Amino acid sequence: MNRTPLIAGNWKMYKTGPEAVESAKELVLLCADIQDVEIMIAPTFLAISQVSKVVKGTRVTLGAQNLYFEKEGAFTGEISAEMLRDAGVEYAIIGHSERRQFFGETDTSICRKIKAAIEVGLKPILCIGESESQRDEEKTFSVLDKQVSDGLKGLGSDELSQLVLAYEPIWAIGTGKTAGVGQVRQVHQYLRSLLENLFSSNLSDQTRILYGGSVKPENAKALMGIEDVDGALVGGASLDANKFINIIKYNS
Ligand code: PEP
Repeated sequence: MNRTPLIAGNWKMYKTGPEAVESAKELVLLCADIQDVEIMIAPTFLAISQVSKVVKGTRVTLGAQNLYFEKEGAFTGEISAEMLRDAGVEYAIIGHSERRQFFGETDTSICRKIKAAIEVGLKPILCIGESESQRDEEKTFSVLDKQVSDGLKGLGSDELSQLVLAYEPIWAIGTGKTAGVGQVRQVHQYLRSLLENLFSSNLSDQTRILYGGSVKPENAKALMGIEDVDGALVGGASLDANKFINIIKYNS
């Protein structure tokens, strides 16, 4: 199965509106000639509408860093999937470890968010990954197993046709530590067979599994060259368009 790689930038809580617009414009120019790689950036909610105008009709697609699972109502401070789609968003990052850690997200709420995204046609990027202590205690696979099966509970292969998984070992996020090639290969292989066991071989074949955790221009080629790695979710290095383009061009 030929899976188009996705290089996705998570801008987290960085960049004011004008800064986000400036970075998006830079990136659009830099990626004008990119082929065969899908590119996504996820600015803050506040910058989404402005960035949406910049990337419309270009090689860069738009993502959100989160959403709320209800359609509308008295949910102060929240944003629905429908509102994001209306603003031009295509992808939604769901269950990022920072949201699990600092905002109390659970596999149950994450599953509701995945369903809400799918319902309006947003492509969900489900983030999963083990902590350092879970890895040390050899719980990596059981942690991932639970995050995938509970995060996608009640959904079938057809509904999940646009799903993207992002394996992000927590100990590698923002730390400068990258998982080794062998570790990444082993986990991605495991996740692909998990998708086959839980859903179908078709879904397992077509689902892109991204790696995330201190991806930078210097290590992108080695990481992206691993079998079963179909792109990257990039935090810090996506904030600088010149760094991000060198990750996007990992193959050249
Ligand atoms: C992330 O935020 O998903 C991430 C992987 O961050 P960083 O690239 O900075 O480690």
